[in-house]
Amino acid sequence: MSADRVMAAIDTLTDEAVAFTSDLIRMPTVNPPGELYEECARFIGDTLAKCRFEVEYHPAEGMKEHTRTHPRINVVGTRRGRSLRPLVHLNGHFDVVPAGAGWTVDPFGGEVRDGRIWGRGSCDMKAGIAAAVFAAEGIRRAGVELNGSVEISGTVDEESGGFAGVAWLAHHGRVSADRTDFAIIPEPLYVDRICIGHRGVYWFEVLTKGRIAHGSMPFHGVNAVEHMGMLLDRIHNELQPRLAARTTAMPVVPPGARHATLNINGIEGGQPVDGIQTPCVADRCRTVFDRRFLLEEGFDATKAEIIALLSRHVRPEALRAHRRRAALRRVRTRHPRPRPPAG
Ligand SMILES: [Zn+2]
Repeated sequence: MSADRVMAAIDTLTDEAVAFTSDLIRMPTVNPPGELYEECARFIGDTLAKCRFEVEYHPAEGMKEHTRTHPRINVVGTRRGRSLRPLVHLNGHFDVVPAGAGWTVDPFGGEVRDGRIWGRGSCDMKAGIAAAVFAAEGIRRAGVELNGSVEISGTVDEESGGFAGVAWLAHHGRVSADRTDFAIIPEPLYVDRICIGHRGVYWFEVLTKGRIAHGSMPFHGVNAVEHMGMLLDRIHNELQPRLAARTTAMPVVPPGARHATLNINGIEGGQPVDGIQTPCVADRCRTVFDRRFLLEEGFDATKAEIIALLSRHVRPEALRAHRRRAALRRVRTRHPRPRPPAG
């Protein structure tokens, strides 16, 4: 059986797969800001080339985060079988979140101890990239020729939305439904959990602008923080119950994630609370939201619903009483496209 031969070949590759994973962990591809992306992309590309992949590099041209000091470089390898199709694409992101405090090992040491690989990214998801590469290599070393083709990509910036990464490849047609039959993303969940349903993400930012005045006479001003509070109230009382009542037919896990959700990621407004205070009416307030939408909702309707809610909110009665100009000036959509399904 071909499958048995492949499994046996993969067993012989254990040391190489572990060494490759450790080497990846030793590259602190920390995001933000996106360190060592080029080096890591080249390293993955060189390994793919040794495994008989044709390798391409895709710098995220046109993205503002693609800079000289922190270039955004994606790598894609293709290994053709008897024919190009069907084509399965395996994608992994090679950026990692910052290590943070409290480590008992070097987070970028790639240490192997007690049968485990330790370090930032060992789980999410440099081991996943290694698993993809060495699964394909196991098939090759077993001498099994596939009917179709395998593609493996290593992409950047997943931890910050993936816009210069897999979304860039999708936007430029390098990964698309027209040429890709199957996609597998070996993100960590559990070893026995396969996740085949996802939601989309719409990140947006709302800025309320008020009018500054002396804090002893707030009636001369318009308080942007108060205005934001009214908006949050409305979201809490109107929008969130509506979202919670929507359920996708997709097998998204855990079950709580089958509903549409909206999270308030962060909020800031008025004067910095740790600085030296002066009495002022807050003239601006900014909030970042994270809306996870269902396949059935779609991106356009999701965005339109937010815009509609904001339009109704402009010039709320409480502020109109002051005969001040409405605080809500602008809705900025930081990320106009939905994120592709990655973990
Ligand atoms: Zn991940």
